Amino acid sequence: MLIRARYIGILFVLLCIGACDKQAQQHQHSSLHFGTLIDITLYDVSDETAALAFAKIDENFTYLHQAWSPWEAGSLARTNNLIKTQKTFSVGPSILPLIEKSTELSIKTDGLFNPAIGELINLWQIHKHEDPDIKPPADEDIQSLVKQNPRLSDLKINGIKMRSENPAVALNFGAFAKGYAIDLQIQVLKNMGIKNAIINTGGDLKAIGSHGDRPWHIAIRHPRQNTWLAKIDTQNEESVFTSGDYERFYMYKNKRYHHILDPRTGYPAEHTQSVTVIHTDSGLADAAATALFVAGPEKWLDIAAKLGLKQAMLIDQDGVIHITPEMHHRLIFNPEIETTIKVTAAL
Ligand code: ADP
Ligand code: MG
Repeated sequence: MLIRARYIGILFVLLCIGACDKQAQQHQHSSLHFGTLIDITLYDVSDETAALAFAKIDENFTYLHQAWSPWEAGSLARTNNLIKTQKTFSVGPSILPLIEKSTELSIKTDGLFNPAIGELINLWQIHKHEDPDIKPPADEDIQSLVKQNPRLSDLKINGIKMRSENPAVALNFGAFAKGYAIDLQIQVLKNMGIKNAIINTGGDLKAIGSHGDRPWHIAIRHPRQNTWLAKIDTQNEESVFTSGDYERFYMYKNKRYHHILDPRTGYPAEHTQSVTVIHTDSGLADAAATALFVAGPEKWLDIAAKLGLKQAMLIDQDGVIHITPEMHHRLIFNPEIETTIKVTAAL
């Protein structure tokens, strides 16, 4: 069901608006990885190169999923088991860069992006959002995890050796891994000499180059209506990442419970419907979208400034669109939708 929701999500990323006449020069491939339908589009490559590229990308995603999923018998699950022992161990080479890059992003987001809250994520079980009996966990269980305050800074790293000072740390890179993986995969394409491509993981994407003599056209989904909110043309190399409360959620006693958690309260973050971020670094864009979502309309610009982010948009709980001037001047909003837009500069 999650996959179906994701599939609907990607329909809103319109990769071929109005210029499908050059279809022959375009190659497209879809496959299922990270629990998401991943779509790759290449422009101006031979059939042979495209087939080779698609096979390589698929193989890499399969490997990365196994290594990075907390629920697969792979490197991350092993790391989480060893963290609990509080003994020193060697971390797998696929995990160290995730920890290093995430630590920096966690610090810059004042801990709002916190991949150490894996236990809290497990407690909420949001992936079972279509189960009719699902309901929020007991408050005391949430508070007990929040009190233990797991953070990446609890991990003491020396070369490839690591030890956790806090047994409550459980790594979950759900808010970062797709972004980081996209950048690795785009590099694979570049190494093959491919200059024009999009890798789209369920609406979160990176585009490089162009679609022939026009830019890549991207559409951003409306968080509450079944249509697009805004369109944007990408320039050179850009990632467009959105975090929203509309794909993985359930309603309980008229309240929406979704998958983006506020590490300070232990509950799904309130005050935001979605955040979209544009940046050249996909890992940063992914983590930033999650962190700005948690920050909400009062604090999001502070966090954006700390991350050096210029282009971001936040839709608050009332549907008001808060947007930086740098992003505003690039978007074309859907004329069929009524919008209230507040353009606000980052500090
Ligand atoms: P999506 O994966 O749908 O694009 P996000 O990038 O916002 O959405 O990632 C949300 C996922 O990240 C959650 O499903 C959960 O696994 C994890 N997560 C939830 N809240 C946080 C948080 N505050 N910091 C880090 N990871 C989080
Ligand atoms: Mg994210």
